[in-house]
Amino acid sequence: MKFDTILEYQDLDRELLSVENEVAKSPERAAFVNAKAKLEAATAAVGKLSHEAAELLAGYGRLSSRAEELKAKLDEFDGILEGVADVNEADYYIRQIASISEEIASLEKDASKDGERIDAIASEYKKTWEVGRKASDAYKEAHAAFNAFASKIQPRITELKEGLAKLEKNVPEEFMTAYKSLRAAKKTPAFVAYKPESGTCGRCFMEVSGATRSKLKNPGDHAECPNCRRILYIPEE
Ligand SMILES: [Zn+2]
Repeated sequence: MKFDTILEYQDLDRELLSVENEVAKSPERAAFVNAKAKLEAATAAVGKLSHEAAELLAGYGRLSSRAEELKAKLDEFDGILEGVADVNEADYYIRQIASISEEIASLEKDASKDGERIDAIASEYKKTWEVGRKASDAYKEAHAAFNAFASKIQPRITELKEGLAKLEKNVPEEFMTAYKSLRAAKKTPAFVAYKPESGTCGRCFMEVSGATRSKLKNPGDHAECPNCRRILYIPEE
């Protein structure tokens, strides 16, 4: 019979889909996915803090070296006023010294703000790291639990897949190609019995057009549903 092998294949595949679905919807898998997302979030948080700390440290380093530079410049003015007789010249040096001192004070203020933020990050980092460590433990646990669950079901999946591979050899190529493409589009069952008297697709319930209808008259006929693309067939007696 023309449709026997593909229908047998479809039945077995339905069982495989249902077992795969059981795994996909299991609480073990949900817990695993959840733990994975938490671990990823914690890892990202640690990374973000590390990045911020590195940038702050670099900025802090730049501020410190600029302050050192200015302090050295200030040292050059040490005792310079002693030898100055001209009031204007003295005034010039005094203003220079004042301006450098101001800049140093402002740099120190910025550096102290950065320092505070660095301290805050260090404590935040400790907390985030702890969250990450716990997330990592939870992930390992959930992963192991999911693997244990999946390994119980795996033999059945393997068995079904082997059965399908065996059947596939006897399914006409045209049917197999159509089936696989419909399965990939999540349109299962892909082969749907057609009743000429109703004139509708048994799956999407769309009334088939005249052209399709004319291809579906006798047992053994088959045609694509113009709407959902499933294969409509008329069973042989
Ligand atoms: Zn249809």
